[in-house]
Amino acid sequence: EKGKPLMLNPRTNKGMAFTLKERQILGIHGLLPSKIETQDTQAMRFQKNLKKMSDPLYIYLMGIQERNERLFYRVLMEDIEALMPIVYTPTVGLACTQYGHIFRRPKGLFISIKDQGHVRSILDNWPETTVKAVVVTDGERILGLGDLGVYGMGIPVGKLCLYTACAGIRPESCLPVCIDVGTDNEKLLRDPFYMGLYQRRDRSQRYDDLIDEFMEAVVDKYGQDTLIQFEDFGNHNAFRFLKKYREKFCTFNDDIQGTASVVLAGLLAAQRVVGKPITEHKVLFLGAGEAALGIANLIVMAMMEAGMSQAEARKKIWMFDKYGLLVKGRAYETDSNQEAFVHPDPGEVKSFFDAVNVIKPSAIIGVAGAGRLFSHDVIRAMGSLNEHPIIFALSNPTAKAECTAEDAYSLTQGRCLFASGSPFAPVSLEDGRILTPGQGNNAYIFPGVALAVILSGVRHISDTVFLETLVDQLTDEELSQGRLYPPLSNIREVSLQMAIKVVEYVYSKGMAFRYPEPVDKEAYVRSVVWNINYDSFLPEIYDWPGVSHKIN
Ligand code: NAP
Ligand code: MN
Repeated sequence: EKGKPLMLNPRTNKGMAFTLKERQILGIHGLLPSKIETQDTQAMRFQKNLKKMSDPLYIYLMGIQERNERLFYRVLMEDIEALMPIVYTPTVGLACTQYGHIFRRPKGLFISIKDQGHVRSILDNWPETTVKAVVVTDGERILGLGDLGVYGMGIPVGKLCLYTACAGIRPESCLPVCIDVGTDNEKLLRDPFYMGLYQRRDRSQRYDDLIDEFMEAVVDKYGQDTLIQFEDFGNHNAFRFLKKYREKFCTFNDDIQGTASVVLAGLLAAQRVVGKPITEHKVLFLGAGEAALGIANLIVMAMMEAGMSQAEARKKIWMFDKYGLLVKGRAYETDSNQEAFVHPDPGEVKSFFDAVNVIKPSAIIGVAGAGRLFSHDVIRAMGSLNEHPIIFALSNPTAKAECTAEDAYSLTQGRCLFASGSPFAPVSLEDGRILTPGQGNNAYIFPGVALAVILSGVRHISDTVFLETLVDQLTDEELSQGRLYPPLSNIREVSLQMAIKVVEYVYSKGMAFRYPEPVDKEAYVRSVVWNINYDSFLPEIYDWPGVSHKIN
């Protein structure tokens, strides 16, 4: 036995104790994190887990995925609202921080900087031949948790679970990848259970060369139209790689583009209540990073679609970061991605509260990842500036949200339109109304987009695709309950509707490369989604109708 079956056989498996030579000769190199571990460490982990099971729910759930995939997806899909927070934020974050401790069986492909020049041969160890979607991270900025190195593998694994559960993308078409170039997390560098290279992040040219080699190897093996989704890279690299690869590969960055699209969808839903066209809004961001810039750029695009010039649209968007308002000539530098939103200094702004009073925004969007920074004063000010203020507190997890749903609703007498990144429970107001906060979850977007991209053979994903995702699926009644997004329990249908719309769009724009073009796009999309029914292993067995072998 060689390759993955050898690892799956409990009689021959040694886990991370396979030596480098064994990994190469047995064709399993890349199927394990870089560390070569001793049996002593393995035994220690095992014993420690016996004493104290950390986060048993995640472990139990993912254990089923290892043993019976269809059963796993069936249960996940049947209760997606309850289980999504486990396979995805926030529990997956906790699981990532403890990845080395709860490690059972490796999932996905690990490619380290030491493998430079051999990436293609590592890909050849991946047993699946029909990969259509890759989610890749380098672990530098896992959720709001920072640098987790190879422990970040939980994220691509979790995202791809949702590709399958929400959009019916076949699990064997999905490949999670973690690029290991070291970690700058001191705690992990001292953690005996850490599984990556014990070195600081390589930030030299070699890192870029490795990512280049990886991109080339993926399309070489799986084809030019393989979707490669970048996930949880550090801010600087995320923007750089998006720019560098977006025209050459079929790629998107969920932290930038997926976020943008789900937030714009929320804003447009809010607009139905506010009753002003998007061009009349003024938006103030708290935070000026990946999420803020992605959202801001998409809002500009939406305003331009509504007839505004780019320059005018950009003037409607302000950003406030750690050092204050982004204004010309301030002491702290802004970077080239932020330039479009750096405006002349209006003066008198020392705090975010000042900014609200001076800019007078119709919407504030919190994406700073720095906790409860929408103070009561800020919320009240929004309430006196606007009949229906838009207040989005998007930072994750719940503890980092800029304000609670309760505060937002109660301090504006239930007039505000509120959405958060992590879930908040419905809020009862004094007047008896019950309002349901929206959850601007990226999972409303990326599975549907991925399905459409895969089905239509798009080569490059343009930003206009993300404008097409905004399918209006809210009823007036849902809107009056405060909802800005459909219930999560509907996410499968939401994803399929979105995929249908995007497939129609890319064919109409000549961006699709899969031919013949399906005539009925809806029937096409619905016909290919994966289902959880067991396949039969029997050969075709049948009776001959009406034939009797009895000799009369
Ligand atoms: P990021 O690229 O690191 O950006 C964070 C930004 O916030 C930076 O501009 C940072 O300024 C600024 N900031 C940090 N502390 C601040 C403070 N005390 N006051 C004002 N600004 C501050 O991170 P990101 O990817 O944009 O993500 C940010 C947050 O949004 C995270 O909590 C994430 O979970 C959340 N998010 C939510 C969704 C969703 O709800 N669907 C999607 C994506 C992200 P410096 O650059 O100066 O440090
Ligand atoms: Mn992410």
